[in-house]
Formats: sequence, C-alpha cells, structure tokens
Amino acid sequence: MIHEILPVGPLQCNCSIIGDEQSHEAMVIDPGDDIEQVFALIKKHQLQVKQIIITHAHIDHVGGAMKLRAATGAPILLNQNDYALLKMLDVQAAWLGMTNPGKVAIDQSLGSGDRVSAGCVEGNVLHTPGHSEGSICLYFPTEKTLIAGDTLFAGSIGRTDLPGGSYQKIMHSLHHGVLALPDETVVVPGHGEMTTIGQERQNNPFLVKR
Ligand SMILES: [Zn+2]
Repeated sequence: MIHEILPVGPLQCNCSIIGDEQSHEAMVIDPGDDIEQVFALIKKHQLQVKQIIITHAHIDHVGGAMKLRAATGAPILLNQNDYALLKMLDVQAAWLGMTNPGKVAIDQSLGSGDRVSAGCVEGNVLHTPGHSEGSICLYFPTEKTLIAGDTLFAGSIGRTDLPGGSYQKIMHSLHHGVLALPDETVVVPGHGEMTTIGQERQNNPFLVKR
C-alpha cells in the first residue's frame, strides 16, 4: 500500500493519500488545503484518485475537496450526520480567520459497515460520533492502520465543545469502536504525531481506566 501523509493548511490537518501499488488506484482522505502539494504526490506515484473521503465536516479537513474533485472527477464521501455542519463552512471560516472555500457537494454518505477501496486496498468505515455527529474513522485491516480523523490523537482526544460535539458520544465511540481494534494498529490522527492503539490504551489520560 502506498501511504503518504501530508499536513495541510494553517491547522496542519493530516491529509492521507492511500494507493494500491499494482493498479495505482487511490483515495485521498481529508484534503483540507494545499491541493497543489496533494497533486504533486498523486503525480509522483502516478495515482488515479477514485474516492475523496472526509472524516468530518470541519473546514481544515474538507476545504480543498472541491478542487480535488474538479481535477480528478472522484466523488466526495462524508457521513450524512455532518451535512448540517458542512453548510456552516462560512461560519467556520470566520471563526478561524480562514477563506471560505465555498459550497462543497457530497456525492455519497458513508457509515458503519461501509467499505472504501482503492484497487486491492480496502478500508472499513467506523461511524464514531463525538467530535462531530458525522465523524468517521477508517480502518485498513490488512495494513493494521486507522485513519482516526479528530476522534483520537496521540495523548488526547477530539474536542467536543463545537457544534455537534458530545463528550459522552466520543467516549462511547472510543471505548466501543476504536479501542476494539488490536493494540498493534497504527493510528494516523487528524493532526499531529502517529501513535498506536496499544500506546493510547495504556497512556492516553482520557482513556486509561482509573
Ligand atoms: Zn475537527
């Protein structure tokens, strides 16, 4: 599996480009900004983007999606519970002092039990509400890799004080969804350093049972 992780935009959202080495089909997860750099990596690996997947509708994760869709023709996928949040991109832009990327059109919703794929590379969708109503994580079982969006970070968890956020829901999603994965699972959070499920199970102050 080809996996490039590119921190994009002023908030350095981790954009993942995941491709199949044989077929060169690919998916791009959370193209928040800096689409020129995303294109450069697509070109470097000669990839054909088949899906654009958004872990949740915050501007730093979705801001560049329409540019990427225009250039590749790939559909944009987002859990339907975040459609309302997606309509607030102008408000989000104002909060953060960022440029409003304009309207983002979603082609299809993604929820628990759904699969995403690029050639032979397959990922399972976990609906993990809490940071937002429609937050999802993507688990690639063969590669034992989790794209966690802003649900889980190295040593922390997603904030729940924004519209659609719920501490109770994120804790449920973490304990019943994310922590059900094997300890050796590599976690790529929406921001910051990579970690593993085992490391977070043992050391994350929000998850350690006292
Ligand atoms: Zn977020």
